[in-house]
Amino acid sequence: MQNSTEALKKHFGYSDFQPMQESIVNDVLAGRDVFVLMPTGSGKSLCYQLPAVMKDGITVVISPLIALMKDQVDSLRVNGIGASCINSSLGMKEIEHIKTRLLENRDKMLYIAPERLTSPDFLGFLKTLKIVLFAVDEAHCISEWGHDFRPEYRKLRILRETLPHVPIVALTATAVPDVQNDIIQALKLSAPRIYKASFNRPNLFYYVRPKEDAYGQTLSYLSKHRKDSGIIYCQSRNSAENVARKLQEEGFRALPYHAGLPKETRSKNQEMFIKDDAEIIVATIAFGMGINKPNVRYVIHYDLPKNIESYYQETGRAGRDRLDSDCILFFSYGDRKKIEALIEKSKNRQKKAIAYKKLGEMTRFCESMQCRRKFLLGYFGEMHADRCEKCDACLAPRETFDGTEIAKKIFACIRDTNQRFGMNYIISVLVGKGKGDRMRIYGHDKLGSHGAGSEYSPKQLQVFIRELVQLGFIGVAGDKYPVLRLNQKCSGVLAGSGSVNLTKPREKTKEVQMNLQDGKQVSAAADDRLFEILRVLRKTLADAENVPPYMIFPDFTLREMATFFPRSAQSLSKIKGVGNIKLERYGHEFLEKIADYCRQNNIEEIKLSGKAS
Ligand code: ADP
Ligand code: ZN
Repeated sequence: MQNSTEALKKHFGYSDFQPMQESIVNDVLAGRDVFVLMPTGSGKSLCYQLPAVMKDGITVVISPLIALMKDQVDSLRVNGIGASCINSSLGMKEIEHIKTRLLENRDKMLYIAPERLTSPDFLGFLKTLKIVLFAVDEAHCISEWGHDFRPEYRKLRILRETLPHVPIVALTATAVPDVQNDIIQALKLSAPRIYKASFNRPNLFYYVRPKEDAYGQTLSYLSKHRKDSGIIYCQSRNSAENVARKLQEEGFRALPYHAGLPKETRSKNQEMFIKDDAEIIVATIAFGMGINKPNVRYVIHYDLPKNIESYYQETGRAGRDRLDSDCILFFSYGDRKKIEALIEKSKNRQKKAIAYKKLGEMTRFCESMQCRRKFLLGYFGEMHADRCEKCDACLAPRETFDGTEIAKKIFACIRDTNQRFGMNYIISVLVGKGKGDRMRIYGHDKLGSHGAGSEYSPKQLQVFIRELVQLGFIGVAGDKYPVLRLNQKCSGVLAGSGSVNLTKPREKTKEVQMNLQDGKQVSAAADDRLFEILRVLRKTLADAENVPPYMIFPDFTLREMATFFPRSAQSLSKIKGVGNIKLERYGHEFLEKIADYCRQNNIEEIKLSGKAS
């Protein structure tokens, strides 16, 4: 059998494996059961596609989504690998045709929906083939604990019973421990080797911005990223429509996507986005499942997401190709209120409580001054260093000042009102304004705290209080009507022996004007003009074959071409993402464009070392 590194270059054009891929591939080749838990974009598909190409026989891939299956089959075929898919969209005749292909060994891989696979007829047919591997993709669908349970996945236990000698590899990006055990048991994996990768997505930059003139901020960001693909998530259909329309008027190729649109419009808009005919999709959470587009350069959350799980999943759709990408979230308490109103509509008390708790975590994330990445990974139970240097908290650290005096006033106010009030009330007392009747009835207008913090605006006091909560001086009790309480930690400060450092108030104008940081260091070396030329060529080739451009070559492959200017087939084959078949199919045309450009601009090729396969 060929060596797996050589096969990787030959069939997929990559010279190196991503972390864990090589060991997984080798285990799968050795016939072991394997369980793979890796985040989106970490290259899970290759873990069964490469063994499938190398093994002598057929690999069956179980997948829940038609769009995903089609996407994978298309990209395998572009790489010259025989693959087919069977799902509910096919008629009897087409299925017979695929069966023939399988019987004649023309396909290495079969993608199939679980309900079809587990029918007795089909299992009977499978037995007549030489099946060498089952790959269960999105394996969390098997578990009732998962967020995406699909009853038809339950029947997959029959695979082991029907074909006990065929190894199984199960893959998912869902991290909950209960789900893992469920998967292993339900599929009857035998002594599986378990691979768990970190959920960190090192190429994503996280930013949280105050939601002030969100449209203006978005526009200013987009105008600097006109050619990039991105997703803008909105909470409601209306706002998705509005934002899309305004951006269109501004000259952007932006399309809406939400459950209120007719099915055809939705598929058309999605297709245009995937094929780079529209750069921007403005969507509700209805968009994203089964989107494999690797070159999504930014995800903007125009409105607050309901919980961190959704936020992480949605931001995770950026940068699958591992190039730097931005995740920008606009945060406002107004949005929080809107979500609370939605939660209130639910009748189920337990569900309500969970929803409030999750919303609370989401808010805490936005308010937090600590590294965003550390917070997110911590939420999913993973440790991370204190700083990532790729989020707003790390990139623009705030200046601090000795805030003991104002902290003391805040603590005293909470104490003197008997720790029975929420933040807004406490702030009213501190600035000595508002809540007139209520304050008089309680006699709080007579307190020493009354008006004691009036040198600050209510908004600034809010920032201080939230920071004191973060720092552990103040506790918050109750999710729905949160009440501020004093923690043990503040007794020293109240007694005059401790001090508190707080973030220095920022001048308001500075905050609004400050542009979104542009963290992406788009490979500085690449020649942008040549990259554009290659992109246009890629689009032409993709349209001719009716596949998305990223299937011809991903962005990073074009960037490498525009960095090294390969002038021969041999040099081109050393570029990441150029395998044998693609070299043969498209090499000539790309080389021609590069040569033209180099001639016109007097550019020399930069030789890449390392041997081509
Ligand atoms: P996942 O299923 O884990 O979300 P994918 O299988 O879709 O991830 O892979 C994400 C991207 O990484 C794809 O564009 C894929 O072509 C690319 N990729 C996979 N393996 C490698 C590799 N060894 N080197 C470079 N790119 C890779
Ligand atoms: Zn950070």
